[in-house]
Amino acid sequence: MVPAKPVNNQVAFIGEVEMTEQKSWIESINEHSKSFNLLPLASIPAATVDQVEVAVVANPDPDTLNALPNLKWIQSLWAGVEGILGSSLRHDISIVRMTDPQMAESMAEAVLAWSLFLHRKMPQYKSLQSEKQWQPLSLKMPQECNISVFGLGKLGIEAALRLQRNGFTVRGWSSSKKSITGIETFNGDSDLSTILSKTDIAVLLLPLTSQTTALFNKEQLSRLPVGASIINFARGPVIVEADLIECLNNNHLEHAVLDVFDEEPLPVDHALWSNPRVTVLPHISAPTTVATAAEIAAQNLNHYFSSGKIPESVDRNRGY
Ligand code: NAP
Repeated sequence: MVPAKPVNNQVAFIGEVEMTEQKSWIESINEHSKSFNLLPLASIPAATVDQVEVAVVANPDPDTLNALPNLKWIQSLWAGVEGILGSSLRHDISIVRMTDPQMAESMAEAVLAWSLFLHRKMPQYKSLQSEKQWQPLSLKMPQECNISVFGLGKLGIEAALRLQRNGFTVRGWSSSKKSITGIETFNGDSDLSTILSKTDIAVLLLPLTSQTTALFNKEQLSRLPVGASIINFARGPVIVEADLIECLNNNHLEHAVLDVFDEEPLPVDHALWSNPRVTVLPHISAPTTVATAAEIAAQNLNHYFSSGKIPESVDRNRGY
């Protein structure tokens, strides 16, 4: 059956962002509009607000969304949607997350940069410099360095391919079986210990779900070879922070590059700030770019208003 075309072309912007940021998103998305009109929720006339079928959201209050009786789907401006998935949002509202090739490019660049940081032993040279020690360390060829990417989705695949082009030996782990030329792939819980045991640098690019929360606990971290390092660009709670700190402090792990944390911003008194084996980043590995993300959001909205079809949305059962 062909879906009915929407009758009301007003789209609500709902989010907790600065007014200037909201204005920039609204202007940029409306620039690409063929027929819809994106407005702050408060600017939609009371007489028509009940007809709104779509909202563009950034950290929205679920109660505000639930109060729109005809709301069918929301376009998130962020890639990770665990917050809204875990909220009281009505189940008849579909969630479309931001999937932007530019974000995958930025993430692949960040993964390569921080993998090189670890591969070329920059933390160790920084420490030697602080002790005024002139001491060359052994250097492996990139092909001797085993980098495993955990999560082979929109971001993980690009990151794995970028690492591979740099000559690293790359492996990947996902939920379902994948076939990627030149990359050895593993899937499911049964393969986890095997891939961990073959990993010098673990790159985490998994969504936060009930299955991935606390996945990298002491048991799994201990399966990494002695001297391995970890890069977490996914979400903080995928790693058990206390277990990670223990594995770093007992010299099992060499270094952790962390962009995401259980609590953000990382509290000033947190032990991770001053751990010499940890590099703290302020959630910057792949920021949303307004120009490209606005165009993608507008494409989804244009398609909906011309066809009535809701874009590919998050699977609530699997949680991503
Ligand atoms: P995605 O396209 O949904 O891909 C998720 C990948 O994880 C898929 O390969 C999936 O396997 C795999 N996966 C999920 N649950 C799994 C499990 N239990 N066991 C094994 N594999 C599992 O997501 P994405 O766009 O690549 O983004 C990944 C995450 O990166 C986001 O959810 C977000 O948390 C994070 N992120 C961080 C930043 C930052 O700046 N730090 C920016 C953007 C995104 P299948 O392919 O088999 O489904």
